[in-house]
Amino acid sequence: MLKVGLTGGIGSGKSTVSSALAAYGAAVVDADAIAREVVEPGTPGLDAVVAEFGEGVLAPGGGLDRPRLGEVVFADADRLAALNAIVHPLVARRSAELMEEAVAAGVEVVVYDVPLLVENGLGPLYDVVVVVDAPDEVRVERVVRSRGVPREQVWARIRAQADRDARLAAADLVVDNSGTPQELRERVARLWEDLLARA
Ligand code: ADP
Repeated sequence: MLKVGLTGGIGSGKSTVSSALAAYGAAVVDADAIAREVVEPGTPGLDAVVAEFGEGVLAPGGGLDRPRLGEVVFADADRLAALNAIVHPLVARRSAELMEEAVAAGVEVVVYDVPLLVENGLGPLYDVVVVVDAPDEVRVERVVRSRGVPREQVWARIRAQADRDARLAAADLVVDNSGTPQELRERVARLWEDLLARA
């Protein structure tokens, strides 16, 4: 089974590509969703986070107060390492479970949707790294139009992420999404053929 790491900056079209690959028959594993799932209320993961960081990181409803936890860990590398030491093994275990389910179901291609693949140097975990690419200006316009986020906020996100060249340097395959949605669909069709050939 082929393990594909899919990434792309905000507004690149990564989610669009991952949905299309799912429609072709890939199993899609969403890294952000798993990271949320392992610390949902009632999980050992959340218990461990509270044991480490205190009840102050809980929201009134009993779930994790992410902005609060973010303030704590992003100001302090040791605290961030402590959080990662709790969350990363849980994410790895849950990913492995999903992977086993995919193998049991006869899936040939598993796509890991990993927004920060390049930033976190995770390329070596995958057989193939696929980068969805479009110029920064194009991505900004898409996000402003589709999500109503202020333009300057999107630029700030882009500046905080890996730049385009760094992402392209980490890619085994690039999906150019600088064109129309129809062009993207055609490129994803070719990508799927390519992935199946490698699987
Ligand atoms: P990401 O997951 O990389 O942030 P999305 O797939 O959510 O990006 O795409 C951002 C927005 O741009 C969505 O509203 C999507 O429908 C739209 N979009 C994606 N590709 C194109 C394209 N080629 N042309 C126009 N709009 C696009």
